[in-house]
Amino acid sequence: MIENWVAQLDQGGHDVLAKAYQWELYDQLSASGLYPYFQAIEENQGPVARYQGREVIMLGSNNYLGLTTHPKVREASIDAVRKYGTSMTGSRFLNGTLTLHEELESKLATFLGKEASLVFTTGYQANLGMLTALINKKSAAVVDRFAHASIHDGCRLMEGENIKFHHNDLQDLEKVLASIPQDTGVLLFVDGVYSMEGDLGPLPEMLKIAQKYKVRFAVDDAHGLGVLGPGGRGTCHHFGVEKDVDLIVGTFSKSLASIGGFVAGDKKVIDFIKHFGRPMIFSASLAPACAAAASAALDILIAEPERADRVRKNAQTMKKELASIGYETGRAEAAVVPVIIGESTKSWMVWKELLDNGVYTNPVLYPAVAKGREMLRTSYLATHTEEHLSRALDIFKDVFKKVGKNFGIC
Ligand code: PMP
Repeated sequence: MIENWVAQLDQGGHDVLAKAYQWELYDQLSASGLYPYFQAIEENQGPVARYQGREVIMLGSNNYLGLTTHPKVREASIDAVRKYGTSMTGSRFLNGTLTLHEELESKLATFLGKEASLVFTTGYQANLGMLTALINKKSAAVVDRFAHASIHDGCRLMEGENIKFHHNDLQDLEKVLASIPQDTGVLLFVDGVYSMEGDLGPLPEMLKIAQKYKVRFAVDDAHGLGVLGPGGRGTCHHFGVEKDVDLIVGTFSKSLASIGGFVAGDKKVIDFIKHFGRPMIFSASLAPACAAAASAALDILIAEPERADRVRKNAQTMKKELASIGYETGRAEAAVVPVIIGESTKSWMVWKELLDNGVYTNPVLYPAVAKGREMLRTSYLATHTEEHLSRALDIFKDVFKKVGKNFGIC
């Protein structure tokens, strides 16, 4: 039944609403009690959440540094509302820029060792902004097939060509770059940490190829920031390529405990994106409370870099322990650890078993992941204690004993 999820959306006909009225899958799944999405969480304190009146260990959050409830982050956000109100009601281009935005931009640029940065209202918009500004009719974006949806959506919106290469496949990348005419401008754009499987892009090898073909290189490091590299500076620093990667994109909706996103790079390039990135001009700016929260969270990361170490340690411990139970955990190297189930209905069933027993995970199905890689996405926080993790592992063990054989995951 779940396998029809995408197929059902392809209906035509004169009435564009007809497909919505005829779409019954959601009603059927809701009635079955197996539907996992848009479920309201009553309270979310970070490592533990309250869901349907019960406490659950939260293994489904991107609050990697555990800062969304930190007193200093809360205070900064509340103070910003007191001082500036709730919204700038305009784009950065016009009335939507505060000194708060500019201070955050300069703090981020310094943190990442870049000349400048530009803050967007979401990470999604940062990718759209960068691509719409830089990839005109005479240029192309060369993108890893598994890069985040916001990069692929940005490619739809930009004017130039979009060429995809196989995930982390250096030979395919080289083949693609060799086929592009010399007079076409090229931006190679990949993720630092892939958001579903938690594997890293091979940035040093990609950089060598980018340099060989003289193309520019951008990295979306939404899941590396605050987790990898010295002081949590991210995947580019982890590999020591931060100086040579032209543009680093990040988001505040994970380690930095807020919403919003940014692009960091040379000042001339950032100034250009500022004037030609469509979401910068045509969408309202980041709310003061969000800018202040991200800024306070960044201060805490700078003052307490050991938080990043704890995220990695928790994730690596869980990856090892889950694998020793018998789960397949892929090639995760940051905060995200997939538990590969390999089929949609089974993924939902394991998800439900875990949740009923007190562990919150996120089921991720095709087309968000490749067919056969359907999974439960788990992610780890600096604020998970050993006790939280060992409780979660006990539940994973019980569920494996109960359903592992039937579901072919052992
Ligand atoms: N890039 C990546 C790799 C992401 O995982 C996400 C969000 N999950 C984004 C960009 C978009 O970020 P935001 O939530 O800030 O819009």
